[in-house]
Amino acid sequence: MSKSISNLKFKKVTDAALQLLVNAKVTKVPIDVLRIARLSGVVVEQTDLGDDVSGLLVIHDRQAVIAYSPNQGEQRKRFTIAHELGHYILHNQDSSDAVFVDKDFIVKYRSQKAYSEIEMRQEQEANAFAASLLMPKELIFEELKNDKLQNMSEIQVIDELARIFDVSIPAMTFRLSNLNILY
Ligand SMILES: [Zn+2]
Repeated sequence: MSKSISNLKFKKVTDAALQLLVNAKVTKVPIDVLRIARLSGVVVEQTDLGDDVSGLLVIHDRQAVIAYSPNQGEQRKRFTIAHELGHYILHNQDSSDAVFVDKDFIVKYRSQKAYSEIEMRQEQEANAFAASLLMPKELIFEELKNDKLQNMSEIQVIDELARIFDVSIPAMTFRLSNLNILY
């Protein structure tokens, strides 16, 4: 996803995620995404959103609310919250009213409605933000130094890092490949 965003834009997105981690004084993983969202002034609630909606961001009278569906795995919930927080931080912080609805990734790309260029870019940015927030580069490199990982196969390393960071295996695989740790 991030590969189609320009490098400058990607840096801006990464820096925004890093800033939240610094503000929250995060030093260990897994990242407490709920605490970080709340520190950003966002209300987070689990709500039934129907079959194909994974999460949404609503801003009303300057109060941001993230709702996420209970119908997804725990790690996917964390990614959804981080993704919606990305929309808030990157795209909507100055709006007094706004709504973002995120459908399941696959449903989204199968749907009839084509995304506009701006929407596509915002989705890529929110995904890149979520990846940077939940799997900070420095902390990944820190974990990679761990002796325990040295004798593991690539698949085992991905598995172990996904467990440590409490993210899905596909999300970790994608992140490691984006950081050029996997080839
Ligand atoms: Zn989105």
